[in-house]
Amino acid sequence: MNCPKCRIEKMKPEKFEDIMVDRCPACQGIFFDRGELNNMITKKMGGKADTFAFSATSDDMDNVPAHCPHCQQKMTPCKGAGDIRVDQCQTCKSIFLDQGELASLQLYFP
Ligand SMILES: [Zn+2]
Ligand SMILES: [Zn+2]
Repeated sequence: MNCPKCRIEKMKPEKFEDIMVDRCPACQGIFFDRGELNNMITKKMGGKADTFAFSATSDDMDNVPAHCPHCQQKMTPCKGAGDIRVDQCQTCKSIFLDQGELASLQLYFP
């Protein structure tokens, strides 16, 4: 599977917070299949994952559009609690977090 951002790098399966994700060796971004990110947050935060519902934003600071490696289509920039930005595929609901986005998400984890 290619990285949604870099498009050329082969992502590697990796264990992240008890779930299997795909990580890009070049940009360190992490790709979550549908529901994986929410499951992880729910576990970490004891069921408060709804805080992290992501909604589409036009306030897009990403200059490189991510493409879903499953659907081959442009992912939608989304924003959640605490100004966390992710790219979400509107078709398969998978989520891509780049390194900076991942860091801001982890601030919420004890
Ligand atoms: Zn990458
Ligand atoms: Zn997709």
